[in-house]
Amino acid sequence: MERKTLFADVIVPLALPRLFTYRVPQILAPFIQPLQRVVVPFGKKKKYTAIVHHLHEKPPQGYEARYIEQLLEEEPGISPQQLQFWEWMASYYLCHLGEVMQAALPAGLKLSSETVIRAVTTLEETDTTALSDRELLILEALEKVKELSIKDVEHIAGIKTVYPIIRSMIQKRLIAAEDELKDLFRHRTITLVHLHTDFQGEDALHGLLNQLKRAPKQQELILAFLSMNPGKTHDFPAMKRKELLAKTGQTPATVMQLVKKGIFVLEDVPVSRLSGQADDEAFIKLSPAQEEALSQIQESFAEGRPALLHGLTGSGKTEIYIQLIEEQIQKGKQVLYMLPEIALTAQIINRLRVHFGRKVQVYHSRFSENERVEVWNAVANADPDAGMIVLGARSSVFLPFRNLGLILVDEEHESSFKQNEPAPRYHGRDAAIMLANQFKADICLGSATPSFESYHNARQGKYKLVKLDERFGGSVLPDVFINDLREDTKRRRMNGIFSPALVQEMTDTLQKKRQVILFQNRRGFAPMIECNNCHWVPHCVQCDISLTYHKAIHQLRCHYCGYSMNVPSSCAECASTDLRMKGFGTEKIEEELSVILPEASSARMDLDTTRSKYAYHKLIEDFEQHRIQVLIGTQMVTKGLDFSLVDLVAVLSADSMLNYPDFRAFERSFQLFSQVAGRAGRREIPGRVLIQTWKPEHPVLKFVQAHDYEGFYEQEIEERKRFMYPPFCRLIHITLKHEATDPLDQGADLLAGFLRKTFQGRILGPEYPPVARVRNLFQKRILMKIEPEVSLKQVKSELLRQIDLFFQEFPLKNFRVILDVDPAN
Ligand SMILES: [Zn+2]
Ligand SMILES: [Zn+2]
Repeated sequence: MERKTLFADVIVPLALPRLFTYRVPQILAPFIQPLQRVVVPFGKKKKYTAIVHHLHEKPPQGYEARYIEQLLEEEPGISPQQLQFWEWMASYYLCHLGEVMQAALPAGLKLSSETVIRAVTTLEETDTTALSDRELLILEALEKVKELSIKDVEHIAGIKTVYPIIRSMIQKRLIAAEDELKDLFRHRTITLVHLHTDFQGEDALHGLLNQLKRAPKQQELILAFLSMNPGKTHDFPAMKRKELLAKTGQTPATVMQLVKKGIFVLEDVPVSRLSGQADDEAFIKLSPAQEEALSQIQESFAEGRPALLHGLTGSGKTEIYIQLIEEQIQKGKQVLYMLPEIALTAQIINRLRVHFGRKVQVYHSRFSENERVEVWNAVANADPDAGMIVLGARSSVFLPFRNLGLILVDEEHESSFKQNEPAPRYHGRDAAIMLANQFKADICLGSATPSFESYHNARQGKYKLVKLDERFGGSVLPDVFINDLREDTKRRRMNGIFSPALVQEMTDTLQKKRQVILFQNRRGFAPMIECNNCHWVPHCVQCDISLTYHKAIHQLRCHYCGYSMNVPSSCAECASTDLRMKGFGTEKIEEELSVILPEASSARMDLDTTRSKYAYHKLIEDFEQHRIQVLIGTQMVTKGLDFSLVDLVAVLSADSMLNYPDFRAFERSFQLFSQVAGRAGRREIPGRVLIQTWKPEHPVLKFVQAHDYEGFYEQEIEERKRFMYPPFCRLIHITLKHEATDPLDQGADLLAGFLRKTFQGRILGPEYPPVARVRNLFQKRILMKIEPEVSLKQVKSELLRQIDLFFQEFPLKNFRVILDVDPAN
């Protein structure tokens, strides 16, 4: 029989416009299937994990196909639905399949020559007898150097095919793979104390206490342990060591003495996987309003429509979600619960864990690659213990669901659902709608301040609008005061950045032992420094933006590229030493507060204070436990937090948000102010909200004050209609980048001209965006507006064709064209 040569077209995780053809070695031919992961050589010396798109027998034209090197698995690595979803994403968001693959697969599943590995354990902690010689060699090497490249591993192991070894070491949790330098997630563990089974039972306990008569400290520990379970003589549940020590005032050394005697047994449990056993006690009783909302959502599911749950802050949306999840779990279906920022939602994770225990998994880019691979595998196997409910940020739409029954998108209005950089520039909420469609799954979007896009869809009947306008547990909406800063400034009554009314409110609130949240959407100390003589402002050397002053590090920093410099002592233009701060950020609020209310304990929550993985959780915990009285923060404080003791919320400066040059500025301001106001008074005491502004008559503030989302929507949607902005059209941003302005101007004009020939008035610009230079690249933007009636598919293919033609005529190196469909800003 004639031997046929088999070829595979594969997806390589790179920003390249096509599939690549490789030869399948005869030895692999009987095993290879579409959607398997393989290792392919690429370029001169690189190697990548690729995915087989399809197999065929047609040799490629014009080049000699290279061989596939390895097959990484026996079964397909992704499902046909996943490939279909990737293809939809690439075509909708105008990017390459390889870019989607890059975003979709955790690094542990796409090893490449760029991968570095690190140890996640030490040799000392490892049972080395269970390791192969090569595994041992690799671990020993990692003890000496922190990380190894794939090349290094090949060298150490003395073989070329190291991917299988690395994969198995990842599975054994010996190492982690990272495709860029990230600080490795360390499990925070807690130590549990068990009573050894030898000492359980009435007699044994009696004997034990007798035995410890001469060791009163140890005896006290045992008694404290027993007192947690009054009347019990055996089957004692484990107790947190910390709790036991706190209860007795003993030291860890005493616990260790009992461990040495074999009486206590210690166990370290990672907090992230802390089981939180499903708790039957935590049965939820829905209010009549919640019951009604729930049944309306179920109705919309029965009609096959997405539901939009418009529920006030504090109206108890989570309880409804829990019911919806429960129904799916009963049916054996998987659930995806999406949130804009996982790190901020420790509270929701805990509430879900109370109900569903270990069934709830969290998937987030801040987690280590190993953990992401674990969740990935659990979801792929629809593991009834760990693969059924995933709480995730936008990237969780890429998980390999098998029988997805429900998607919940909470805080659906949040712009952080949109990925801006790099491609795929997708919107997590919109991708979720697509994903639900693919699985014929139910989907419910939820928000107290829905995005205009979603609300418009609901008004049009595409989604079913479900309202929940009663706060849970009878709590009332906060009173909102608009504080006119013009008056206070004119009368010279301001305490720095605090109005007299705000100081009074804070003092009263703290006296009542209640808590305060201060909101300012700007981190750092002062947005800029200015020469009082000539108005010179220090700018970033790489970007067209003024530098922000950070007092704690005494430096000026660029918030676009991270560039930093020392604070100049004199003006670079006129040498005057009279330099002043303009505006203020969270850092300055913290400082001024410590002068005005020196007794108050405060903390700051912004990007600068939450860089380490657990800083958020620590801050939230401290605030919950009332160790902090005043929390100062950027928009991080507006999200998903529910604190029962917060009576006062203040917006320090409403104007900078309202003046932001973007067609969504008012929508964003309304959302942000309403969300932050919603943090106040979430129990029986009505909260108070104070908004400092120079424009007290601004309509957005009036609507915030009246808690009137609909009124605001009615007014603002008219403006959108008049000026043709979403949801009345679709936008595509075409951003051009180059290091010099002349070629950029020339190229931008040429491309805009090309596009106008076909698209006419739908093309606006090119223009320089507010920040025209970032990281030494100038940028210009062309805006494309597409009416809903026009076929988006045709528009996009024509757009790509025109860009190709443009590059043929304008083949300038390093000239970048970036497409952003449905841009967030
Ligand atoms: Zn000057
Ligand atoms: Zn910069």
